[in-house]
Amino acid sequence: MSRQLGDSHRRFLQTMMAIGITNEQEAKALYQHCCETHKTPCVTDKLDEFIEAINSRLQPMFMQIRKGMSEENGLQYYALVNMAETDITRMTSDYTENELELFRKTIDLIVSSENGKASSTDILNSTDTMTSKKMKKSETEHLLTRLVQDKWLCERRGEYTLSTRCIIEMEPYIRAMFQDQVKVCHICHNIAFQCQICENPSCGIKIHNPCVARYFKGRVEPRCPACEDFWPHEIPEVRRLHSQSKK
Ligand SMILES: [Zn+2]
Ligand SMILES: [Zn+2]
Repeated sequence: MSRQLGDSHRRFLQTMMAIGITNEQEAKALYQHCCETHKTPCVTDKLDEFIEAINSRLQPMFMQIRKGMSEENGLQYYALVNMAETDITRMTSDYTENELELFRKTIDLIVSSENGKASSTDILNSTDTMTSKKMKKSETEHLLTRLVQDKWLCERRGEYTLSTRCIIEMEPYIRAMFQDQVKVCHICHNIAFQCQICENPSCGIKIHNPCVARYFKGRVEPRCPACEDFWPHEIPEVRRLHSQSKK
């Protein structure tokens, strides 16, 4: 079902094309700004409907503005994603074949890790098993910098994680490629990488760190919501909303 788009929708879409991803708070401000600029009514809690109208027109172009949670801070984000390609071939205009092979290996390392991270050392070592043109250390480091700049990966102290944008955009690909390894968060049911795991071997559920913070907030003795075993991990604090948390 296609709906008529106004100037405010177009302006919102143009901004999304320029920035790629934005958090919910910024998206709401942008929505308000677009409506004010084009003198159209703005209903604060109608952002999702406004985006749905844009999505109905984006569908024939295999694009979509999709919502997802940041594993870092638990905030909701909106990302403009490409749905035409089902895997990372969508990146072929920006990356060479061997660069994409290494990116695939990095996703592999992250998916098969317990904490959703891959160290730069592990990524450098994985170049040994490349089937396409092998990459030198400096080339690998340069590629990792670009993947962070292009918002596919995040880096902290030499450890790489999948960015929120990457998770929102690549989720169908990752689910299809890593069926056996991928787990979803027991609380929010989204795909989970950076998370805590129940240590009961017959349980082993995963919960995102921000979901852990919200779920166990105020509970004196944290217990696994699935098996009721004691939850032995440190419970992170619920982070405050802040507008500069771009991921
Ligand atoms: Zn979760
Ligand atoms: Zn459990």
